[in-house]
Amino acid sequence: MGYQLFNRLSNRLFFAVLTTALLVGLAISSVQILLDVQSAQDNLEKQAKQLLAMMREPATQSAYNLDRGMAEQVIEGLFQNEAIFYAAIKTETEPSLATNKKPLKDFKYRNLSNFLFGQSLYFSLPLEGTIKTRTSDRTEYFTATAHYGVLEINIDPSYATQALTERGFQIIFSGLLQSMLFGLVLYLIFHGMITRPMAKMTKSLESIDPLQPSRVQLEAPKGHEFDEMGTWVNKINGLFSSIESHNNQRRVAEAHVERLSNYDMLTELPNRMLLNKRIEESILEADEKNAIFAVLWCALDDFNSVNLLHSYNAGDRLLLSLSERLQHEMQSIQTISRIGGDVFSLVLPITNTHLDAAKSAQRVLELIRRPFQIDEVQLSITSSIGISVYPHDGSTSDELLKHAENVMQLAKAQGGNRYQFFVESVDEKIKETKRLEKSLSVALNEDQFSLLFQPQIDLSTMKISGAEALVRWHHPEKGLIPPDEFIPLAENNQTIIAIGKWIIDESCRALSLWHNAGFSHLTISINVSAIQLHQSNLIRVLKDAIKKYQLNPHTIILEITETAVMSNLDAAVRMLKHIKQIGIQIAIDDFGTGYASLNHLKRLPFDKVKVDKSFIEDMLESTENATIVGAIIKLGHNLDMQVIAEGTETLEQIKYLQECECDFAQGYYYSRPVNSNEVISLLRKDNPTSQVNNLYPLNPPNHES
Ligand code: C2E
Ligand code: CA
Ligand code: CA
Repeated sequence: MGYQLFNRLSNRLFFAVLTTALLVGLAISSVQILLDVQSAQDNLEKQAKQLLAMMREPATQSAYNLDRGMAEQVIEGLFQNEAIFYAAIKTETEPSLATNKKPLKDFKYRNLSNFLFGQSLYFSLPLEGTIKTRTSDRTEYFTATAHYGVLEINIDPSYATQALTERGFQIIFSGLLQSMLFGLVLYLIFHGMITRPMAKMTKSLESIDPLQPSRVQLEAPKGHEFDEMGTWVNKINGLFSSIESHNNQRRVAEAHVERLSNYDMLTELPNRMLLNKRIEESILEADEKNAIFAVLWCALDDFNSVNLLHSYNAGDRLLLSLSERLQHEMQSIQTISRIGGDVFSLVLPITNTHLDAAKSAQRVLELIRRPFQIDEVQLSITSSIGISVYPHDGSTSDELLKHAENVMQLAKAQGGNRYQFFVESVDEKIKETKRLEKSLSVALNEDQFSLLFQPQIDLSTMKISGAEALVRWHHPEKGLIPPDEFIPLAENNQTIIAIGKWIIDESCRALSLWHNAGFSHLTISINVSAIQLHQSNLIRVLKDAIKKYQLNPHTIILEITETAVMSNLDAAVRMLKHIKQIGIQIAIDDFGTGYASLNHLKRLPFDKVKVDKSFIEDMLESTENATIVGAIIKLGHNLDMQVIAEGTETLEQIKYLQECECDFAQGYYYSRPVNSNEVISLLRKDNPTSQVNNLYPLNPPNHES
């Protein structure tokens, strides 16, 4: 540590002590000199008076006798003293009885001398004698003083001044010397006792590491262990160790905050913050290598139902197992991160082809689809993946993620369990979808929904046995939006729960209308989405509607798709059993399109199977489809279920179905979906004696065009 000359404490001390000592020395010397001047003045006066006293006798004699010779001798005598430069004896008659004078001596301190004593010192002595005189009557004598003259001298004070200055210099010199010596000694004492140990302590401070200040302990200077310096050192050591322990605590806290801000708590995978950094790193690398890389946005399909039907704990454990599985089986992936409840994002390695991304996405889909064993229960879940590729689909992390998320939603809307690459036109469609999804939230309150009912025909009597409720959305700007388009959106933002409740209520209202019109055998088929099925309050909603419209629960049929059931089989079984306990019937919708196996059918409490219209459509053209339809009908009957064929558009189809002993048919051939009043008209027109041969389509007004 370098100090400037004057900033060094020992130097400042040295200067301060020395200056003070010198000033004090100077002051003392000055006082001494003043006293000396005073006594020199006194001396001069005393000397002059002694000199005059010595000459009083002869001078008085010479003045009395007017003896010039003697007077001159007196003057001569006085001039022996070299300081006297003028002497005279004066009488009244002889004003200059004897006089002598010499010039003032040449003296370099004359001015000082003038200042101290004046130019010259003048002394005079009256020359007198006593005489005895008789009084005028001559009777008495009296003595009188007789004045004969005066002796005058002038003394040159420079002789005294010279001695004085010589002594003065000595005084000052020795005074200063003494005080300097004293100052020096003082300085050495201070230095030894204070500045040197302090300098040592300061030096040892340099060895302290600011990050670990208590690793090296400061030592008190020798001999100072128990004085203020020792205390200071102990205090500093204490301070350093508390600083270090605070530092350590802060480091631990910082590491914790760093983990919190960069990693997901549950799976310990990188979170969105870290993901962004990793994507930015990949961008740099891709730019450098002139290559591409893909970002996968992977969301689980209907993860919510796992939480609802099992427990949040089961949901968490599924996420954890999934993250372990991904990390274990996709080791080549640069970053696997969890960026939301059921959303994972993967940054794929730099490559040159989109094919790698497709392969990885397919791999992830398969990995996730493999069932998870959580406690005793096997949980199956699927996922939807959106893929965006740098640099084509976005130049920043935000853009890539946003686009991947958007296309993920498209993959989900297409039924999930698939991946989808980002395409510009798709993006526009997604934005449109988002706008629609938003306007869904107000649709219910603004009465934009309505229900149509499509009759179902009992193929043995050819009479209307019931109707399926089909929802319609009249968008204020876009007009009629088909349910296939908006139901997935409503499922996405959960509005399906409120909409579904309205549909159940409205369907039951229509049913009670028909029952009250005298058609009490009629059933209503209500479509229930997967989200609704996994809502615990579905039972409550159904019970409320049954009570409100005083319906026989058996006249209500819930249509549930295969996929809604299969997304969580165990939970679905429990829910369906509960529904059956109320007396409500259950139909499996779109049978044959999903991956429900015959085995599953056995486990589930279905009353009816609806053969999907895709089989009916080309049933008569393809023997394969005809066989499938026949098999499904047989299978359904074997399992004690009734079979409905949907999408029947021709008489031929109906005839074939009758041959296969299919129980019910629903389709345009008989009627398109109509409103509830029109259902009553249809019921009234229904000809009880009609045979298959003379069955004719009713062709009611088409509400859908
Ligand atoms: P879905 O349950 O399979 O309903 C049958 C669909 O087939 C209806 O379409 C119906 O109009 C149509 N269809 C009926 N007969 C024929 C025919 O002969 N030929 C052809 N080509 N089609 C026929 P829609 O009403 O557009 O409904 C489509 C899907 O939307 C339904 O399929 C169902 O999955 C869903 N959906 C409709 N209404 C509701 C609802 O109230 N709630 C729920 N959750 N989903 C509904
Ligand atoms: Ca249906
Ligand atoms: Ca169907």
